[in-house]
Amino acid sequence: MNPNRNQVIQYAEYSSDPLRNQQQILPNTQQQQQPILFSQVIQRNNANGCDFPADIVCPYCSRMIQTHVKYKIGVHTWIVVLLLLVLFFPLFFLPFCFLECQDKQHICPHCIQKVGYKQYKIF
Ligand SMILES: [Zn+2]
Repeated sequence: MNPNRNQVIQYAEYSSDPLRNQQQILPNTQQQQQPILFSQVIQRNNANGCDFPADIVCPYCSRMIQTHVKYKIGVHTWIVVLLLLVLFFPLFFLPFCFLECQDKQHICPHCIQKVGYKQYKIF
């Protein structure tokens, strides 16, 4: 078989397959999104509303930090506990076990200052 003819056939299969063409495009779009995410991280100076440790610039010590999250039992946690006591008694303690049902306090690991807060809300 002629080697040039074989290459032509492979090229034709490659260009007609839409899945292969998409795979080649995907890495380029991911590279374009990365600088946007990086600039969003730098501009934050508090961690209000974050569920997880956040990368921020500490407003007290001006360092780039990842916050330490402290979980606290809040007002809405107690409301859920009371609702469960009335509606389904055996599982009333569950909001104390699930971290999602508690308030989150973000603390700077260097200067131990409070840099953000997220209150757990039912509604
Ligand atoms: Zn700090």
